[in-house]
Amino acid sequence: MATKEFKAESKRLLEMMIHSIYTHKEIFLRELISNASDAIDKLYFKSLTDDSVGLNKDDFAIEIKLDKDARTLTITDNGIGMTEQELENNLGIIANSGSLKFKSENKLDDESQIIGQFGVGFYSAFMVAKKVTVITKAYGSDKAYKWESEGVEGYTITECEKDSAGTVIILEILADTDDEKYSDFLEQYRIKELVKKYSDYIRFPVKMEMKKSRRIEAEGEDKDAEPKYEDYTEIETLNSMVPIWKKNKTELTDDDYNRFYIEKFMDYTNPLKYMHVKNEGNATYNALLYIPSKAPYDYYTKEFEKGLQLYSNGVLIMDKCADLLPDYFSFVKGLVDSEDLSLNISREMLQHDRQLKIIAKSLEKSIKNELSKMLKNEREKYEEFFKAFGLQLKFGVYNGFGMNKDTLKDLLLFTSSAENKLTTLEEYVSRMREDQKYIYYATGESVARIEQLPQTELVKDKGFEILYLTENVDEFAIKMLMNYDDKEFKSVSASDLDLETEEKKEELKAKEEENSDMFKLMQENLNGKVSKVRLSKRLKSHPVCITSEGEISLEMEKVLNAMPTDQKVKAERVLEINPDHAIFEKLTALYSDDKDKLGKYSQLLYNQALLIEGLPVENPVEFSNLICELM
Ligand code: ADP
Repeated sequence: MATKEFKAESKRLLEMMIHSIYTHKEIFLRELISNASDAIDKLYFKSLTDDSVGLNKDDFAIEIKLDKDARTLTITDNGIGMTEQELENNLGIIANSGSLKFKSENKLDDESQIIGQFGVGFYSAFMVAKKVTVITKAYGSDKAYKWESEGVEGYTITECEKDSAGTVIILEILADTDDEKYSDFLEQYRIKELVKKYSDYIRFPVKMEMKKSRRIEAEGEDKDAEPKYEDYTEIETLNSMVPIWKKNKTELTDDDYNRFYIEKFMDYTNPLKYMHVKNEGNATYNALLYIPSKAPYDYYTKEFEKGLQLYSNGVLIMDKCADLLPDYFSFVKGLVDSEDLSLNISREMLQHDRQLKIIAKSLEKSIKNELSKMLKNEREKYEEFFKAFGLQLKFGVYNGFGMNKDTLKDLLLFTSSAENKLTTLEEYVSRMREDQKYIYYATGESVARIEQLPQTELVKDKGFEILYLTENVDEFAIKMLMNYDDKEFKSVSASDLDLETEEKKEELKAKEEENSDMFKLMQENLNGKVSKVRLSKRLKSHPVCITSEGEISLEMEKVLNAMPTDQKVKAERVLEINPDHAIFEKLTALYSDDKDKLGKYSQLLYNQALLIEGLPVENPVEFSNLICELM
């Protein structure tokens, strides 16, 4: 029988694992027990609707056997088993090499960190075993197979004998070294401890044959004689089998919740928050919900799948039930266990299940309340949350034509010109001055960039606070909100800022009319690049700026045009000239003396304004030549 090679990635992972540090090695047991439990789950689920399985709930179990002489640890389950093909597919490659991908994208330098926290399934057996043998028979099949491997060299699969469906995994434990005492894993007290620590909630009994000894007191014996002992064995169930979510909150510590999260949801850091919800009434369910502390590497991609595990009375019916979470709370991980759901329900039917909808609504409320509470009472934590997932909330405001904006608007944070801190809209409004009509905002790539925008000068000068919008979605979300607490949002680039005094307004109007011919000529010189040239009411020290009129702002133009569609949009641009800047006098002088040069100045100023705005100069070579010419 030829030895087959592992796929390249699997080989790497195996090597990593074999060299991982000792404290991480113990998780192999949790991984194998959890696989066994999953396999039993599948057969148990079948048995509920199919009598031919021939097993009752109490018949299902996971058994551990230790043999110190042979140095073997054996884990047996009577679950669904594997066919030859499944053996090949599941154990020959790492089907879901998520952990490796995660590593390469997050540049974890400590490889063992992934192993320790993540769990890498079946392969972790090689951290403690020099040889692994898997004997398995799939339910419904009449053939059994044996898979054997001594690690990176490869594996063999041969046909063998096995009576009933299920899987036996035999580990030949490594010899002790100076640093690592693998023999520990052959000690029953140690195994018992590990099962309690990692696998207590497993729903099926994890049994171990415990070798015990007791004193025998024979009758009429001499009191001073040596006491006699006899050995006997007893099967003990090591785990309590009560799933953590069914336990009382008072029985559980933060540590219990956090450890469960890390094991179950494959994160490598504690969650930011956990919620243990017990609901009765129109929907009866237990839920354990977690907010991760960081966004998963694929969170903001198409590959990310939202969803909660769904249990019906302790039986897993779906691993990722998407219908339980709205998109804007898709970062939540966890599980829901309800008695109200029918076990026989198919996935397709589940989508239309009334009960499921009620549960989803109720969960959404719980999540929102928890977030609001965090925002109110644990601001720092909330800001950490918002850094990871705030973008998703903003998308939530924008998506669906704003149908969820009222749910989400009070959960939003924006950077504000007031001390450059994050602020809620409610806080902003509470700081608004009596003479302030609008909630002002400015858009740009970064706070530093926005602060330099000429358009922000006047608003800040008036002492009004400005929201700094730095994410692409920000302005779209703001436009969708339209107003907050009856206060309208207003861009500092809007043409109708309306900040100047009546007197100043009159003065500007007069000046504007006086120079209208010049502005017209400048606009013509710019060949349709701008729809208007006019005096600016907002500039203080800067000579020019570009603003937009109409629905599409310059920032939105940038965002929309970066999207992979053919449709390109163009904001209606306006070139504004500062009437109090020396350049304005220069322009009026040129208008009467040298109209040709005025054209060149118009080009120059327009390009300058583009640069300040962070927009590309249309023809850099021409622009550069023009500067030299005028110099
Ligand atoms: P994961 O459990 O994360 O999918 P593993 O490497 O632990 O990854 O296992 C790979 C696959 O092998 C499992 O998904 C399952 O299909 C199969 N498998 C592992 N152990 C067993 C078992 N005891 N009984 C049946 N199938 C198993």
